[in-house]
Amino acid sequence: MNADMKDRAVVVTGGARGIGRGIARVFGAAGAKVLIVDLDRADAERTATEIREAGGTATSLVADVTSAADVRNIAAASVKAHGGLDVLCSNVGIFPSASLESMTEEQWDEVQTVNLKSLFLVVQACLPELKKSSAGRVVMTSSITGPITGYSGWTHYGATKAGMLGFMRTAALELAPHQITINAVMPGNIRTEGLADLGDEYIRIMERAVPLGRLGTPEDIGHAMLFLASPQAGYITGQTLVVDGGQVLPESPEAMAQ
Ligand code: NAP
Repeated sequence: MNADMKDRAVVVTGGARGIGRGIARVFGAAGAKVLIVDLDRADAERTATEIREAGGTATSLVADVTSAADVRNIAAASVKAHGGLDVLCSNVGIFPSASLESMTEEQWDEVQTVNLKSLFLVVQACLPELKKSSAGRVVMTSSITGPITGYSGWTHYGATKAGMLGFMRTAALELAPHQITINAVMPGNIRTEGLADLGDEYIRIMERAVPLGRLGTPEDIGHAMLFLASPQAGYITGQTLVVDGGQVLPESPEAMAQ
């Protein structure tokens, strides 16, 4: 799509690699000023450099989104580097696997903290600057896993991705008076470094499960986010957009047989 993001200041958490990098590249190509927030300085700066070399504007910030102190720096860094904050793409998430029977309390808590609590921390901390924007936008990376589908080993993960949507629906009401929208993209299986960690066999199974016959790219998610952040999507809030190549559609494996 041809959304003009010129002069819009955009923050992408987890923007150094994977889906976040794809989001950052898409917004950078659309003319946005992109702040990449991630844990590793070299990785975050590599993505920022990549966007600058392609003619865009990008800066990086090291911050752990589970740390309230770190998160407080995000809006300030966007204001300092890019003059404000218009669009927050809250994208960080982890997806370790553990069966319900073997899962420890620590494993459960870690996934809740990184995937769900961080959303609260980041949105709340960025709110004062988003309110100053003429068209503030929050777009988050949820998942099909949890809100629509299940997958063994991901009770903790699915709970967070469904929880994000619960957060979003009430936040949408609280943010609406400030003309800030909040929406979620729900990816299927997207080819990222994180997904590669799940192994070749997982990827082969998933490729067979996608009607469009391929895994998604990080840019597929970036384009959906760009739409939700665009002026054209200004009347959409509290909604979800599934980007999964049709993966959730078949009623059964037989439905895929041609
Ligand atoms: P990824 O390849 O692992 O990338 C995640 C990025 O977030 C990494 O750069 C990571 O840094 C960073 N990060 C992790 N914890 C952080 C923290 N506490 N503070 C700041 N940055 C942090 O993951 P991905 O596959 O792109 O997934 C991104 C999002 O999409 C997640 O929310 C995930 O649940 C969601 N999603 C992914 C898929 C998929 O198929 N890939 C499908 C559905 C939903 P380090 O590398 O230094 O750890």
